[in-house]
Amino acid sequence: MESKLFHDGRRRWARTKIVATIGPACREPQQIKDLVLAGADVFRLNMAHGSPESYQPIVDAVREVSREADRPIAILVDLAGPKIRLQEIEGGSIFCHRDEEFFFVRDDPASAHELTSTYPPLVDELTKGDVVMLADGTVSMQVEEKTADRVRMRVTQQGTIRTRQGINLPDVRLSAPAISVEDYQHAIWAAKAGIDYVSLSFVRSPDEVRTLNDIIRSNGSRAGVIAKIEKREALNRLDEIIAAADGAMVARGDLGVEIDVARIPLEQKRIVRACQEYQKPSIIATQMLDSMHESPRPTRAEATDVANAILDGADACMLSGETAIGKFPREAVEMMNRIALATEELIAGRPPRDAIRPRADNLQEITRAVVRGAGAMAHALHAKLVVVASHSGRTALALSQQRNWTPTIGVSTSESTLCKMCLYWGVTPLRGAPATKIEQLIRHANAWACAEGVARPGDRLVIVGGSHLAAGPEGAADLAAGVHDIVIVHEVEAPASTGSGA
Ligand code: PEP
Repeated sequence: MESKLFHDGRRRWARTKIVATIGPACREPQQIKDLVLAGADVFRLNMAHGSPESYQPIVDAVREVSREADRPIAILVDLAGPKIRLQEIEGGSIFCHRDEEFFFVRDDPASAHELTSTYPPLVDELTKGDVVMLADGTVSMQVEEKTADRVRMRVTQQGTIRTRQGINLPDVRLSAPAISVEDYQHAIWAAKAGIDYVSLSFVRSPDEVRTLNDIIRSNGSRAGVIAKIEKREALNRLDEIIAAADGAMVARGDLGVEIDVARIPLEQKRIVRACQEYQKPSIIATQMLDSMHESPRPTRAEATDVANAILDGADACMLSGETAIGKFPREAVEMMNRIALATEELIAGRPPRDAIRPRADNLQEITRAVVRGAGAMAHALHAKLVVVASHSGRTALALSQQRNWTPTIGVSTSESTLCKMCLYWGVTPLRGAPATKIEQLIRHANAWACAEGVARPGDRLVIVGGSHLAAGPEGAADLAAGVHDIVIVHEVEAPASTGSGA
């Protein structure tokens, strides 16, 4: 499977990462391969629409494609969280006319106007005046009366509701646990299946992020936890939540129902900015190329939305239904990659950014200074690549957060770290590089850069590593563990004089 990263010294895939949601339209191995070749870096498995049993073959297929392409590909398992859904509606759907009465009932509905939900205490927790949003916010009702076994509501915005659609309660504080029994089981499966990222829907507090983190760690996984920001409560505690998580998703689908849709652009910028301050990757999600469900071309507004997300500073853009159930999944990924490549021209050649002072980056002081220096040196010397040996991925992430225009190659002795790098803007994870001895790493980078056509003799590479040869995960000396205190500028030599480079 041909998957060269660079063509004639130019990147083939954008620096902005692409998250593609798996679904019936792209679950076969060949379809997954097509999306990888089109530029997908991360595959999302939405647990609201599948089970560990149905997703395990897809995990295996993604890993197989990744092996064939010799390219790390990450998998993100998206936990449903406390999402409440409508139960069965008689006939599958019903049109709710303005001013009509509907009811939430505890027991079996006696008519099509009586609704039940997947959250039994709903009848107890709603109170008079509460707003109930249905069908992605297209239908709304207001609670007018509550009795022991039912809640009476009046339709304030008319439209059709369907079985299993989500229910959003923007200002209601529900006592639903953040992590349901099902989420817990799915998180354990994700940990044991070697998944790279696990995201939690409807996060309300940093403790919820920490709880998920504990579940994952205690099941032997190093998966990163992504907080999906889609509740007002999360916006109110944004800094704490992002500090606790390994990244955040601007989940605009539910967020656009939970808060006024007019505030989405502003909150998107605030969330991305907070991620930059805490040096965590951010993902912009939902309706990015929505019209590509049905059309091979996006609207001008959608292309502009993707571009603006990149200019806001997002690390990744996500496709949901476009790849999961759309008619043009490959075209959607290709289009997102093309928009990203075109947009990135605007930031081409800019010096690494230094304006956003990290509030917390978990880096050692020397590493922080070395990362800053490496970015500046690469820019000043017009280096073709920055190569960073990174044990946990933190140093690669810090380089990414500077938005270095010089392509960054991440190497590691850990496959799980390489997969995590799939979400880091501008970082290309590279397998098989010796991340244990600096001389070997330089030789390998020299040979690889020449073979990819990204550098020629006389060009410069900047190599970042550590001199304290600490024990790595497999007991090998690991250049990337501990403090990063080496920056080497290497002038590329003709490959013949550098041996195999391995
Ligand atoms: C969203 O609400 O934007 C989102 C990404 O979550 P989901 O697709 O699970 O609704």
